[in-house]
Amino acid sequence: MKDETYPFVVRPLPYEYDALMPVLDAEVLSFHHDRHYKTYVDNLNSILADYPELQQKSLKELLTGLNRLPAAARIPVRNNGGGVYNHELYFDGMRSPAGQMPSGALMDAMEQDFGSYLQWKEQMQQAAASLFGSGWAWLVADEDGVLSIQQTANQDVPDLELYTPLFLVDVWEHAYYLQYQNRRGAYVEGWFDLINWKKAERRYDEVIRRRK
Ligand code: MN
Repeated sequence: MKDETYPFVVRPLPYEYDALMPVLDAEVLSFHHDRHYKTYVDNLNSILADYPELQQKSLKELLTGLNRLPAAARIPVRNNGGGVYNHELYFDGMRSPAGQMPSGALMDAMEQDFGSYLQWKEQMQQAAASLFGSGWAWLVADEDGVLSIQQTANQDVPDLELYTPLFLVDVWEHAYYLQYQNRRGAYVEGWFDLINWKKAERRYDEVIRRRK
């Protein structure tokens, strides 16, 4: 899914606009997907239109090679390419709230690396709540399958050469303000019920398969 190249296209949501209710209502989700995310896609394409030599690169290649980009492209690709990457993973990582829990190898790793699901959840909630300003909280796996929580500011991504993101939560105000106003903690608490654990488990199993 990360192998697309210029021109990038807006990926449709993998569910209906009202599928994440009551945690996220259709208005929040449609503004977020159809306006905010689309703007990042449009901006990225408009930057890359000026750099034919970058048009064969995937999003991951662009984001892991920022220092090798032409100087004038570096910050706009970092911000808008990151905006595309992060939102695609965010929307793809959610599903209708269904009281799901992790299982399999991912659950085993959560217990090993965080103590328990609840201890992980507390740390993830804290990472999302304590992030100053706009950004993201992530659950990532390193190449050995060790899990960690990371925070990134703005539209930055973790080091994608070292870590495989399993999922992330958007704590920009645009992700929740229409519905939750300043209550970021309430939004994040609801978001836990939206995590698509089956997809996270598949991503994690892929990391384990690649492990030497
Ligand atoms: Mn967002």
